[in-house]
Amino acid sequence: MFVGHYAAALAAKPLAPRAPLWATVAGCQLVDIGWSVLIMAGVERASVDESLPGSPLVLEHMPWTHSLPMTFVWSIGAALLARFFLKLPVWACAVIGLSVASHWALDVLVHRPDLALWFGGPMVGLGLWNYPVPEQAVEIGLIAVAGVFWAAWRNEAGRAAWPAAAFIAFLVTLQIAAMLTPLSPNPVQMGASALVVYLLVTGAALLVERPGRAREVASS
Ligand SMILES: [Zn+2]
Repeated sequence: MFVGHYAAALAAKPLAPRAPLWATVAGCQLVDIGWSVLIMAGVERASVDESLPGSPLVLEHMPWTHSLPMTFVWSIGAALLARFFLKLPVWACAVIGLSVASHWALDVLVHRPDLALWFGGPMVGLGLWNYPVPEQAVEIGLIAVAGVFWAAWRNEAGRAAWPAAAFIAFLVTLQIAAMLTPLSPNPVQMGASALVVYLLVTGAALLVERPGRAREVASS
């Protein structure tokens, strides 16, 4: 799953308005950010098999980022970082932690069985990746539903509508671009390109809520 993960970040905003969007946007992809780095470092392994139906990505070894126990570690770690560095209220930190955990739950939907329930334990994954049309529909659908709730909440909060519309359009464009771009089998290229995209989306989320926007809108 790619942009579908960001639905969790959009849905988190009305639940915990004090949690910055950039933090839940980075949070919902945090384990994939870690994966990008560990793939480049050769600690986790992936390959490309073009003969597969749908996504050609074969995730051979990713215990540090995509096992269920490590999901808890990443989630709690993110919540603690938010508490100590961003000085956010406990509820906002908990929602940032939950955004991290949402990654694993959504990955279960689409991955082939490559998500470990325990280190070296049974692997799960419902394999929606094998059915590219429904898989893309689920991802775009998640963004659409969460995006509508998020945009409505922003509207009630008196925020401008266009940054939300631009952000959602950016996500949908990325999903289409990812669909049309062949995956590099080279782990460094694979990890680096994924990392750049995750950081770009986090930067875009920061722009959507850049400081002063609320005041700017309120005074206009
Ligand atoms: Zn993932």
